[in-house]
Amino acid sequence: MQDRVLPTALGSEMSRMVAKHLGDNGVSVLTGTTVTGLEGDRESGVRAVETTQGRIPCQLVLFSVGARPNADLAADAGLSIGPNGGILVDERMRTSDPNIYAGGDCVEQKHLIGGNYVHLPLGSLANRHGRVIGTNIAGGSQRFRGVLGNFCLKVFDYGIARAGLTVEQAREAGLDPAYSLAVQPDRAHFYPGSELMFLKLIADRKTRRVLGIEGTGRNMDAVKARVDAIAAAMGRFADVEEISNLEVSYSPPFSSAMDIANTCANVLGNILDGLNQPADPEEFTRRFEGEGARVLDVRDPEASEGMRRKYGERWINIPMSQVPDRLDELPRGEPLYVFCNTGTTAFEVQRYLNARGLDQARTVSGSYALLRELAPEMFAAPEPESGERE
Ligand SMILES: Cc1cc2nc3c(=O)[nH]c(=O)nc-3n(C[C@H](O)[C@H](O)[C@H](O)COP(=O)(O)OP(=O)(O)OC[C@H]3O[C@@H](n4cnc5c(N)ncnc54)[C@H](O)[C@@H]3O)c2cc1C
Repeated sequence: MQDRVLPTALGSEMSRMVAKHLGDNGVSVLTGTTVTGLEGDRESGVRAVETTQGRIPCQLVLFSVGARPNADLAADAGLSIGPNGGILVDERMRTSDPNIYAGGDCVEQKHLIGGNYVHLPLGSLANRHGRVIGTNIAGGSQRFRGVLGNFCLKVFDYGIARAGLTVEQAREAGLDPAYSLAVQPDRAHFYPGSELMFLKLIADRKTRRVLGIEGTGRNMDAVKARVDAIAAAMGRFADVEEISNLEVSYSPPFSSAMDIANTCANVLGNILDGLNQPADPEEFTRRFEGEGARVLDVRDPEASEGMRRKYGERWINIPMSQVPDRLDELPRGEPLYVFCNTGTTAFEVQRYLNARGLDQARTVSGSYALLRELAPEMFAAPEPESGERE
């Protein structure tokens, strides 16, 4: 059993954020748990679900255990079937018999990034398949090049979207992925209704080609817009620099002048160039909890106060503007995790510290904004009063 929700659709950070949103809305999420049976009878219906974590009383059970293509008819007719049980089609949506076309949930197709065959039962794809097939059987010529697995979904008041490969899937495909975790307001920070958005951009270290994008945030259309824009470029095999300069539009009610779609690529470019030395939330939490690593919190004292009280001298607070004058307060020769509101100021300070000989400074990716979602028991603290500067 998997230890997280949506395990093949999202990487661990976004998946844990989804689980937290479910929990915040009163849904108990049990991961790594097997359903071993149902209790009830035909007359009175279901009474409980039995699991490896105990019995859960209920009146209704919904099973959501994935979908398999029903391609028996095609297989019996001698058509080629792919590794996932779906009918194999070419770019014209033709089966192995050139007089028979197929599309929708019963086919599998090449993943544009992974190169492997995948079965993605999505209405978005089925409709496009239908148009290509209709055109081709009527004598026209249209191609369907492959799939990216682009999807969006709503979890209470959060939107989630994803396209391409997760880090795990990229590794399985033999690639060497690097990734950024960008956190930024989804519209101008001063504009009413602005909410933080989280984007994870994944690219191959060697070629810098974009491999995947995942996003979440409260303004769902805004999340979908960013993921769709990056997916469109990914489908054309864009690299990180092309996403940095992706020409997305700007107006305060819709975005920042440097849109988060660009920011996530700028951060990843910095990581690939060795400028940003990131500590992802899992690594940071592990080292902070298990190895007693120390943090340099460069937020204002008010924002940092709760953490200083909680962690004592392990949580050093020096606001960014004071760092140059207080370098002698910092430990040398051991990892120092630089922490701010969203990771932007932390990166600037990390670069400054590197230039002053503190080579082991690391930027905590997403910093407070991400950690309060992923490890609230450790890092949830009162909201900072002053916003991070742009
Ligand atoms: C609850 C739910 C929510 C979904 N939400 C989304 C979403 O938000 N976004 C998204 O992209 N996708 C979504 N999907 C997936 C999407 O609905 C499917 O991918 C899409 O409908 C597949 O289209 P299709 O034409 O291949 O198959 P279908 O839409 O299943 O059509 C197959 C048709 O064939 C008919 N049929 C079956 N057997 C026979 C037979 N022997 N003879 C004649 N007719 C037959 C069926 O009655 C049916 O009308 C959702 C699916 C479900 C179940």
